[in-house]
Amino acid sequence: MTDETGLDRSTRWPYVHGELGPYSYSRFDHPTGVAAERALGELDGGQALLFASGMAAATAIVLGLSEPGKTIALGEGCYYGTTRLFEQLAPWGVRYLQYDQAGPPPDGADLVWIEIPGNPLLTVPDIEAAAAHPAPVVCDATAATPVLCRPLEHGVDVVLHSVTKYLGGHHDVLLGALVFGDEANHDRVKATRMQTGAIASPDSAWLLLRSLKTLEVRVLRQSETALELARRLADHPRVEVARYPGLGPDPLAEQYMAGGYGGLLSFDVADADAARRVESATRLIANATSLGGVESTIEGRFRWEGDRVPPGLLRLSVGLEDVDTLWGDLDQALANA
Ligand code: PLP
Repeated sequence: MTDETGLDRSTRWPYVHGELGPYSYSRFDHPTGVAAERALGELDGGQALLFASGMAAATAIVLGLSEPGKTIALGEGCYYGTTRLFEQLAPWGVRYLQYDQAGPPPDGADLVWIEIPGNPLLTVPDIEAAAAHPAPVVCDATAATPVLCRPLEHGVDVVLHSVTKYLGGHHDVLLGALVFGDEANHDRVKATRMQTGAIASPDSAWLLLRSLKTLEVRVLRQSETALELARRLADHPRVEVARYPGLGPDPLAEQYMAGGYGGLLSFDVADADAARRVESATRLIANATSLGGVESTIEGRFRWEGDRVPPGLLRLSVGLEDVDTLWGDLDQALANA
């Protein structure tokens, strides 16, 4: 039932002479998903699995690769939804602590979870220090994408992507992925995906195949524009601090993101009220959550993360618009800070 674009929405395929064929039921796997997994796996240098969202992928790692009573060491200031997930799973014996991901993970951790670069504080982890720890290492590379960093090559065991962001790239698909360097981990988590029903739909997988065709040009252009905007923001009188891996000397960023630092940055204005005024005053840049699309978005993260971030922190996801047009919009919005 594959159409001419390669999309197959079947939920079941006939047995072949009474035996299981390559596909049987779409909760296990399906041809469109497998094609997208092959393409993403090649980019990251491992075996990929697609999930209904980034958080479904994160949940599958915890259920598939951890156990009650084990401790997860999570990079400080990484995606707040990951901490919320671990808190939600606490009644099932999930424990976590946070550590400075620019250094080695704490002794005694049973699973290490880092993020390159961290959302929204833009820290870069010491990936090789994490890989030297005896515990398995998960690296959330959502904001780097395989265009800028391939963590499996630095000893990481599993790469996580919220495909919803740069890999999807158009704010039109909710999707997650894991890419494994090791077959045993892949098979364990695939079994978890099958039993929990966390697999991505064929339509979502097809949208990823569409988006991969433009991934490299999008990410390189977004990185170039973000670096320029971060530099201008750092010099703006209403901006207290600008965060971006390429600003100032950052040996870890140079080591792990040599080809560009991505389209995500953050900066602080005086307080939460000033942040609200700035985000409400942009005209071109959408005042919305999420990141990684071809259209730029800005939002104050305090509304979601509370005390985890400075109250005046604004997160900017840089799209494909012209750099000077974006700067004009930011500059006029900052007049309200
Ligand atoms: N990881 C990072 C770095 C994210 O930014 C997000 C979402 O914002 C996620 C994971 C979760 O992904 P999703 O929203 O696709 O479930």
